[in-house]
Amino acid sequence: MISEKIDLINLTYDMVFVIDKSGNIQFANLAAEQNLFYTQEEFLSMNISDVMFEAEKFVEILNRIITMSEHENASDENVGEVNFANIKENMGFQDLVLISKDTCLKIMMVNFQARKLIYNGKEHFLLILRDITKRKFFEQELFKITENLERLVDEKTQELQKKNEILERLATRDVLTDLLNIRKFREILTSQIEIYNSKKDHDNGKYLSVMMIDADHFKYYNDTFGHQIGDEVIKGIGRLLTSSVKRTDFVARYGGDEFIILFPEITYEESIQACLRVKNAVTEKLRIKEVIHEILGLDNVQIPKEHEITLSIGLSHYKSGVTMDDLITQADTALYASKEGGRNCIHVMEENGVCVRIDPEQFNKIVSEQFSD
Ligand code: GH3
Ligand code: MG
Repeated sequence: MISEKIDLINLTYDMVFVIDKSGNIQFANLAAEQNLFYTQEEFLSMNISDVMFEAEKFVEILNRIITMSEHENASDENVGEVNFANIKENMGFQDLVLISKDTCLKIMMVNFQARKLIYNGKEHFLLILRDITKRKFFEQELFKITENLERLVDEKTQELQKKNEILERLATRDVLTDLLNIRKFREILTSQIEIYNSKKDHDNGKYLSVMMIDADHFKYYNDTFGHQIGDEVIKGIGRLLTSSVKRTDFVARYGGDEFIILFPEITYEESIQACLRVKNAVTEKLRIKEVIHEILGLDNVQIPKEHEITLSIGLSHYKSGVTMDDLITQADTALYASKEGGRNCIHVMEENGVCVRIDPEQFNKIVSEQFSD
């Protein structure tokens, strides 16, 4: 019966086998011969396990599943059809592996169809195996290419994120000190004024305050030791300002040796204490001689008292109805008063438009008296 159908079966590129329930090959078509390099006669004395990896397990599972499906579907005309998903699940892998005759060794990946077949009154299995080696290879290649592409996209995205961060930093930070630049500072000040205005409880004694700072005698360092030292002085002042205020305050470089700080919420006394802290930090911790020694290698540099870096400071407090520019101008006017008043001092622009010089000793005395009350 089988031999009558041989010609048709030989037309297909799929490998067709008939095996008995022990896996002995009863028939193999032309495609099987061409792919696995065994002759028809050789196949008839072989077991499917001679060409299939883990064939025993495969045949055992085929037997088991076909028996099960016969019990379950006794009245069903589809008896004998095999549930492939079930086989694959039982095999633990999806595709079968065929190994050709070792004189011309070839390993093939195949997918399969299987059916029960009654031949010579006995149960057999019809196996149709399709070579998918190339497809698998391309799938793997495609997988690799996709993986590489995904990695490339990831890398490019990260690169872009870094560039954006750098651009964002360049747009908002001062290059020399890494403090906020004045453009960003004005943006923050505008929004903080809006926040301040939206709050109802302005009687809590808290102000939005702006501090303007200019280094005294700075040009001396540029002129005497060069711009590199001048730059280090500016950077050092920037660092000391940042470390002297809270993280929630905003420190910016206004330009040259001038800085500006925004305190979004601060009492009048605290704002003056902040001025004193900032001023003392620069007087006590700037360590210019060490910088000159490190950079220029100069020992025992003497800096005349009249050229020591100190800070002149101006302070203003926001009142509703005042613009941002007014607030900055008020602090600047107070700073100018400090310069005019001999430098190394603090002036506060009062509500009545008068600049008042702060006497640190007197201020500390008043504060400690208040504290002891
Ligand atoms: P005053 O006590 O009146 O403040 O005088 P000053 O010597 O501190 O000088 P002033 O504040 O008027 O001028 C600041 C100088 O800072 C002017 C400019 O040449 C210099 N300068 C501005 N930007 C930079 C900078 O980025 N690096 C350096 N090294 N110098 C700068
Ligand atoms: Mg100056």
